[in-house]
Amino acid sequence: MTATAPREEQLWSRCAGCASLLYRKRLRRNLDVCPECGEHARLGAPERLRQLVDPGSLRLLPDRLPEADPLDFVDVLPYPHRLTGARTSTGLAEGVVCATATIGGHPVVLAVMDFRFLGGSLGCAVGELITRAAERALDDRTALVLVTASGGARMQEGALSLMQMATVSQAIAALREAGLLTVSVLTDPTYGGVAASFATNTDLVLAESGARMGFAGPRVIRQITGRALPEGFQTADFLLRHGQVDMVVQRRSLRGRLVALLAATRAGRPARPSVPRQEPASHRERLADDGPAPVRPAAEGDAGAPGAGDTLAVRDAWDTVRMARHPGRPTTLDYLDSVFDGFVELHGDRLGADCPAIVGGVARLAGRHVMVIGHQKGHTTAELVARNFGMASPAGHRKALRLMRLAARLGLPVVTLVDTPGADPGVSAEEQGQAAAIAENILTLTVLPTPVLAVITGEGGSGGALALAVADRVLMLENAVYSVISPEGCAAILWPDRSAAPQAARALRLTAPDLRRLGVVDEVVSEPSSAAHDDPAETAHRLRAALLANLLPLLDVPPAMLVRLRRQRFRRFGANRVGARAGLR
Ligand SMILES: [Zn+2]
Repeated sequence: MTATAPREEQLWSRCAGCASLLYRKRLRRNLDVCPECGEHARLGAPERLRQLVDPGSLRLLPDRLPEADPLDFVDVLPYPHRLTGARTSTGLAEGVVCATATIGGHPVVLAVMDFRFLGGSLGCAVGELITRAAERALDDRTALVLVTASGGARMQEGALSLMQMATVSQAIAALREAGLLTVSVLTDPTYGGVAASFATNTDLVLAESGARMGFAGPRVIRQITGRALPEGFQTADFLLRHGQVDMVVQRRSLRGRLVALLAATRAGRPARPSVPRQEPASHRERLADDGPAPVRPAAEGDAGAPGAGDTLAVRDAWDTVRMARHPGRPTTLDYLDSVFDGFVELHGDRLGADCPAIVGGVARLAGRHVMVIGHQKGHTTAELVARNFGMASPAGHRKALRLMRLAARLGLPVVTLVDTPGADPGVSAEEQGQAAAIAENILTLTVLPTPVLAVITGEGGSGGALALAVADRVLMLENAVYSVISPEGCAAILWPDRSAAPQAARALRLTAPDLRRLGVVDEVVSEPSSAAHDDPAETAHRLRAALLANLLPLLDVPPAMLVRLRRQRFRRFGANRVGARAGLR
């Protein structure tokens, strides 16, 4: 990590690129770009806004939300202490500043992330603020400009922070449908859940010179692959070379480029047909908000599966993690054999690859045709290696995307089975656009006009899991886990070392009962008293019953209504709602 931005009162600052001592005022006049070597220093959100918008046009949007610590998260420090520290040191309420303004006379809504605030991490409040900014752009019928700077999802808010990737993505999807331009400006650094959602699923992606962007961070990739990384890996020029960004822009040209893009896309607007369609939709949206509660096909604790509900055994979170990773645990192909009939596997992303970590195809569930897509691990080392341990490549995510769209076109419901430690964190995965591949799946699922039912069957690892789990109903097997980060990864960052993984597992609230309480999961499917791997036949029987109980009511819901209800489901993870639920309001 490079040096933090110097404080205003300091007269001199040292360039993180060439170590030249620079006169502060001269540096600022040069937009915080070193006149000696061209290094782009990181900017706080207020300074970034000042550089981009027309003078006098900036109107900040409200940034106060009820404080939420939904997990009561404590590592070596309680989370509220970290929040207070970040507020004091930055003067900001949260890690994003949102505003309306004009850029070259074009009205826009902006959301600018600030890396100084807990590493620009995406928590519930940040997700809520960016979602509101996108909704404001939809109301005002203006373009949305996102400036990203983030290490990823905010660990201290667990799976709820993971849900923000879906919440913001569906707001981006609504702008896409309305024919309104979305632009993201990647600044250094943009990683993890932010990279794998709204930083890359916008219409245009600009990378500021010197920015690095990727799904997995370089340190993680080096650790996992044991390989040295190629020169310039994940830099803006690397991203351009691999087709992942529209352009690389020097800071001094950024405003000018935005003006040109806004002018061009605004000129095209009147020809777009989607404008009149939008009004009745939002009218119905309001009616739906006041109307009946979202469909709850199976009442809480009233699942087709016996024992689902409040009678689950209380097991330590770390023991559950080990159970979820047990090599004997049934895999997606096992379930395709035991729960479904007549599976016909479909292969390939149609772009040059077939990822073995994702399997998918048509099958029957109690005589009804469905599209099943799932991560595939294996029981033996050879199987696990052949399947890349269930870690999907970008080709795997694109195969899943192809099958989801095909299902919608054919009117087939989609059932996903989620069991992955996470998306493939390798060098070639980054080269092939892992972040954007995940982001596009998440966005597409928020608008897919067919029922989607997801089951976390084993490990639900971060963005790779969410890429198959934005669904109308999310079920979870009793001994499965679903988390924004692995306990080991979380321990390595927030505790002194990875040996604190059991504590991290508890703090992350990654078990099925915890996630049902948080509303991330709708229903827990109980496992046989031993565990799934001891009695796969009984597990399959219970899973089948739960799938049917949840899927059948969805089949009667018109597709447009399904999409609306799915959006409501993922809209409710905002900070105000979480804060209210936790009694913090
Ligand atoms: Zn320099």
